[in-house]
Order: sequence, then C-alpha cells, then structure tokens
Amino acid sequence: MKNIKLLCFDLDDTLWLSKPVIEQAEQVFYAYLATVAPRLTERFSPTSLRAHRLAFLDSHPEFKHQISQWRIASLSDALALCGYRHQSATIAQQAFSVFLAERQKVTLFPHCETILGELSKQFMLISLTNGNADLGVQTISRYFSASYQAEDVNAAKPSAPLFLKALDVASCDPEEAIHIGDHVIDDISGAKALGLHTIQARLKPDSPAPHELADTHFSDWRELPSKIQQLAGS
Ligand SMILES: [Mg+2]
Repeated sequence: MKNIKLLCFDLDDTLWLSKPVIEQAEQVFYAYLATVAPRLTERFSPTSLRAHRLAFLDSHPEFKHQISQWRIASLSDALALCGYRHQSATIAQQAFSVFLAERQKVTLFPHCETILGELSKQFMLISLTNGNADLGVQTISRYFSASYQAEDVNAAKPSAPLFLKALDVASCDPEEAIHIGDHVIDDISGAKALGLHTIQARLKPDSPAPHELADTHFSDWRELPSKIQQLAGS
C-alpha cells in the first residue's frame, strides 16, 4: 500500500471547462475597451488585438510565464500605439481587472465540489495552474491547503518548480503525491518526470486519448475517488 498524502490539481479543464469562461472574459474585456479607449477598438479587432499580444511576447520573452503581466504590458503598448500614451498603463490595468474578474466566473464540472470535499478529509489538496484563475475567490478554496500559479514561481508546468513547490509545502516525496490534470504534456509528462503518480482528466468534449504516462484517467468526477484508491492500493 502506498502512502498517498498529497493530491495536486490542475484547474482549467480539470475542475471546470476553460473555453467558455475565457471567451466570455475576452468579450467583456473588449467591450470595456470599446467604451474607455475607442481608438484602440477602431484599430484592433479582438483577433488582431490577440495577434498583437502574441507578437509582443516574441519581443518581450520575459513575460512568458507571467501571463497577467504580459496581457497588461501588451495592451499598454497597443494603447500607446493608438494615442493613449499617457493613460495607457492605467487603462490597461483597469481593463485587465475587468478581464480577471470575469475570468473567475467558472462553472465547476458536475460533482466536482462534493468530491473535492470528500477527498480533502483524507488528503492534502494543492492547486497548480499555468493560468490566472484565482482559486481563492471560489467556494471550493476551503478544501485546498494552498494554490500556486506559474507566475508565483516564474515557471510553468511541465517544468519542475510548481510541482516541487507543492511537494515542499506538503513535506512529502513525489511517490506520496498524485497530480491530476488534463494536459498530457504540462500535467502528465511534467509530473511523471518528477516521480509523482498521475491521473489524466478527460472531461472536455475533445479530450486527448489516455496518455501512456498517465497511471489512470477519468471522464466523470464521480470516478475519481476510486481511481485514487486504486493507485494508493497498488
Ligand atoms: Mg488544464
């Protein structure tokens, strides 16, 4: 019997579907910009503003693991191009706040909250995300001992720092931890490379096939407790 102490959870597409909430946040973000900076939205469509953001990263690679600061800085740059030179930083910060608030309006997968509550009685739970979802504003945060974003360690999964942070906080070895996430590279390969057990979340309509490095997988949150027990007992 393995002694599993820690469950690490990815957030986007593991606890909730990310596409609808990010699309909605992008729409609200752009509509806000249309009201406060119309010269920007006359020049940039939502698509070309995104292209500008991507191009900005090419010339500012220091923002690679700082997705919130990247969005703010690239928007500030676009605003300056449109003549908002003196207000660009302020408008960008406010527009980002609008985006971020909307981005937190997630809908948990069915049964996720109940199962997290049950698991938290037996294991330490820590969330690890490459995104800017803020678990702290969600009611389920009460089940988690800690939550980390790639920006906290300036390194995204699949690289080691986020996983090592969780192991350190939980004071446990990799073989005492299970990482649960949807992404076959960032979550499954990344965690496996450090020796954690892995469970692949296959909850999206277009989920990839079970990965060879995943110890097991699930496609309904009600399956997860037994998958964890299988690993703990194997
Ligand atoms: Mg994910």
